[in-house]
Amino acid sequence: MSQRVQKLIEFFTKLPGIGPRQAARLVLDMLNWPAGELEEFSQSISGLGNGPILCTNCFNLTDEEKCSICSSHKRDQTRIAVVEKITDLQSMERTGAFNGVYHVLGGTINPSGGSLPHNLKISELLNRILELQKLTPDVEVIIATNPNTYGETTALYLEEELKPLNVKTTRLARGLAAGSSVEYADEITLVNALKHRR
Ligand SMILES: [Zn+2]
Repeated sequence: MSQRVQKLIEFFTKLPGIGPRQAARLVLDMLNWPAGELEEFSQSISGLGNGPILCTNCFNLTDEEKCSICSSHKRDQTRIAVVEKITDLQSMERTGAFNGVYHVLGGTINPSGGSLPHNLKISELLNRILELQKLTPDVEVIIATNPNTYGETTALYLEEELKPLNVKTTRLARGLAAGSSVEYADEITLVNALKHRR
């Protein structure tokens, strides 16, 4: 086995859901790529280390300081959907049914997995709402965590934290079956969960 190939396989196995065999398949396929494409691939990877990756406002992906959603005048900046992960944001964006903005927590509260409230972007959310409330009293926070134990724990915690702020707080409707996820919900389900939020 070539050392260079072996090294790359090891890197791929660090990715979620990729085992050694799958990693080997990916790398062997890449051996057939034209040199230019490999160069581009390696540049996009090293580019991840430069400049902003996460929006300073909502923690979505971006190349600028603020993401395209936070800087869009077409979006209602007073409706904030709080999601666990960037992939949840992307699923909601694909529905095209939500015209507000997001706040990506970066996970859920999961003490046994070592994830505590201070590991999530919760204080950032509270500050963001306080800033927004200086401009308008009409702010809504839509808690869009997943309907599983950790998502529920996180939602309850958020509701408690939001209480003193006197901000309208809603949850995605139960169209999302318990145990399902925002990321993999089909679009109709998500659109309905949003429409009937309460
Ligand atoms: Zn943003």
